[in-house]
Amino acid sequence: MKKVLVSACLMGQKVRYDGNALTQESELFQRLVELADIVTLCPEVAGGLPTPRPPAEIDVADGGAVVAGKGKVISVQQIDVTGHFVSGAQKTLELCKQHNIKIAILTESSPSCGSTLIYNGQFAGTKVSGHGVTTALLRQHGITVFSQFNVEDALAALEL
Ligand code: SF4
Repeated sequence: MKKVLVSACLMGQKVRYDGNALTQESELFQRLVELADIVTLCPEVAGGLPTPRPPAEIDVADGGAVVAGKGKVISVQQIDVTGHFVSGAQKTLELCKQHNIKIAILTESSPSCGSTLIYNGQFAGTKVSGHGVTTALLRQHGITVFSQFNVEDALAALEL
């Protein structure tokens, strides 16, 4: 069975900042769960953050800049949580290497897991193009990241 990394919150784990999950119930997602060997992790929890936790956004840039040490992740309380986010991204990459995972389906718009959109750092609900810290690090290491809105493409990439 092919292994794929899936954000823990998409698999029903209550690990989001607000203590909820983002359980996926579409037919395509169920097909993925049946045909693939799912490995789950929440990068933010893996990075040492509690649940629930204050929401955080990437300040100014996107996850690529954070990985490069040129951007920060700041909570709504103005606390710098960059170290937790980078640590979580590194642990996620280690897990992927350990399982030889090449494809991931991560939660869109998260400052860790977003793959095409993230919030703009102003806590105003405004999204901009960009990817989260974990997605940036995984992509730098050749892992293809899809969101929960592109499961069909992920299934095709997995040849399932
Ligand atoms: S860091 Fe990723 S897996 Fe964890 S709650 Fe946020 S979106 Fe879900």
